Amino acid sequence: MTESTENAVTEPAAPQAVHSTTSFAELGVSDIMLSALEEACYHQPSPVQAGVIPIALTGKDVLGQARTGTGKTASFGIPILERLEKKRNSPPQALVLVPTRELAVQVRDEIEKLSFGRKVRTIAVYGGKPIRQQVGKLEKGADIVVGTPGRVLDHMSRGTLVLDGLQTVVLDEADRMLDIGFRPDIEKILRRCPKERQTLLLSATVAPAVERLAQRYMRDPVVLDFSDKTKTVDTIDQYYFTVEATKKYDLLVKLIEREQPEQAIVFCRTKRGTDRIQRKLTKVVKAVDCIHGDMAQGARDKVMKQFRAGEIKVLVATDVVGRGIDVSGISHIVNYDIPQASDDYVHRVGRTGRMGREGVAYTFVTPEEGPELTRIEILINRLLKRDEIEGFSTIVPVASATPAHPDGEAAAPAEEEKPKPPQLPGARRGRRHRRAL
Ligand code: AMP
Repeated sequence: MTESTENAVTEPAAPQAVHSTTSFAELGVSDIMLSALEEACYHQPSPVQAGVIPIALTGKDVLGQARTGTGKTASFGIPILERLEKKRNSPPQALVLVPTRELAVQVRDEIEKLSFGRKVRTIAVYGGKPIRQQVGKLEKGADIVVGTPGRVLDHMSRGTLVLDGLQTVVLDEADRMLDIGFRPDIEKILRRCPKERQTLLLSATVAPAVERLAQRYMRDPVVLDFSDKTKTVDTIDQYYFTVEATKKYDLLVKLIEREQPEQAIVFCRTKRGTDRIQRKLTKVVKAVDCIHGDMAQGARDKVMKQFRAGEIKVLVATDVVGRGIDVSGISHIVNYDIPQASDDYVHRVGRTGRMGREGVAYTFVTPEEGPELTRIEILINRLLKRDEIEGFSTIVPVASATPAHPDGEAAAPAEEEKPKPPQLPGARRGRRHRRAL
C-alpha cells in the first residue's frame, strides 16, 4: 500500500456487479472459520460477503459501497481473521476505524464471535470511557483494534498503540466518519500506517470526499457496489400519519397500543424532546428508555446493552443510534419527528428489517411537513402508504397551518423558507394537499 503522491493517484475502477454465491466454503475460508460461522448460525454469505471476502483474502484493497445490516462487518472481519499471522507479543495486525462508540463495541463483538476457536484478542478503544482501562487492555496485547479516530490518535500519541505491525486497515462507514469531521484524524492515522498494507473501505455512499480519500490512501482498490437501487430494504413496510404537532404524543401512545411492537425505536429530532417523550411514555408503556448524545458514555452503553438483551422494548432516540447500530429484534421504527435530512430516513428505517427479517416504519408528518415527506419518497423511489388511527386525522389545510413544535423547541422554518420539493415521478397531483386534509 502506498500513499499516493500528486502524480500517482489511482482512479477507482468501475463498480463490479456482484451476485451471491452458494456457500462460505466456496469463498475459500478455512475450516476453523467454517466452524465459527456455523456456531454463529451464518449459513450463507450475504451478497456483500460473497463479493468482498474472496478479494480481501488475496490482500487486495477493496472499496465497497454497503450499508449496515448487509453483513458488511463480517465481510472485512473474516478476511482479517484469516490473514492474521501467528506472532507472539507483536503489535496489532489490524485496525478498524469506525465513526461511533456504539459501532466500535458492535464491530468488536462481531469479530469476537467470528474468532470462535482461535486465540485472538480484539480490543475496542473509544472516547467517553477512562483511557486507563483501555491502556491496560492494549498493554496485555491486541491482534485487532477497533476504534474511533480521536481515541486511536490519543493512544498513538501516548505510545500505547503502535501501528508498525498493521497489515490491514479498515475504514468502516467512511462517509459517516467524514460527515462528522474525522477527516484530519483519519489522515493522520493513515499516514502513520505501514505503506505496505491492505486498506478496506466500506461506505453507504461514495460521495466525492470518500473518493478522494480512496484515491489518496488506497492502492488500486477493487470497487464493489452493493447499494440498494431503492435505498431501503424491501422487507420494510413504510407508512406515514398526517398528524398535528400537538397530537403526536397521543398518536404515539395509540400506535404502540395497536402495534404491540417486539422492540421499537422512536426517533426524535432533539435531545430535550427525546428526554421528554421518554419521561411521559414511561408512565403508560412498560420498558421504555432513551439514548442521546448528551448522556454519559456509561449510561449509553448500559441502555444499548439492555436494548440488545431485549430488556428495553421502546427506545426513544436521537440520530445517535440512527446509523450503524444493529439490534435484531427491532420490529418497529417510529419517526416521531420527520428526519431533517432525507438520508437519515434511510438510516433510521434501516434499523428494522435486518438481514431479510420483516419490519415496519411509521413516520409522523405534520400538515406543514408535506415537502419533507415528498423528498424522502423521491430518495427511496417509493410512496409511503397512509395510515390512520381514529381521532387523529388532521383537518388543518396546508395554507392555514400554523407551524408548531410539540416539544416547545425551535419550530421548523416557515414553509416559504424551505426549498421547493422536487416532483416525484408518477406521484398524483395535489398529493400534498390531500395529505394535509
Ligand atoms: P452488519 O451489516 O455487519 O451490521 O450485520 C448485520 C447483522 O447480520 C448482524 O447481526 C450480523 O451478526 C448478521 N449477519 C452477518 N452475516 C450474516 C450471515 N451470513 N448470515 C446471517 N446473519 C448474518
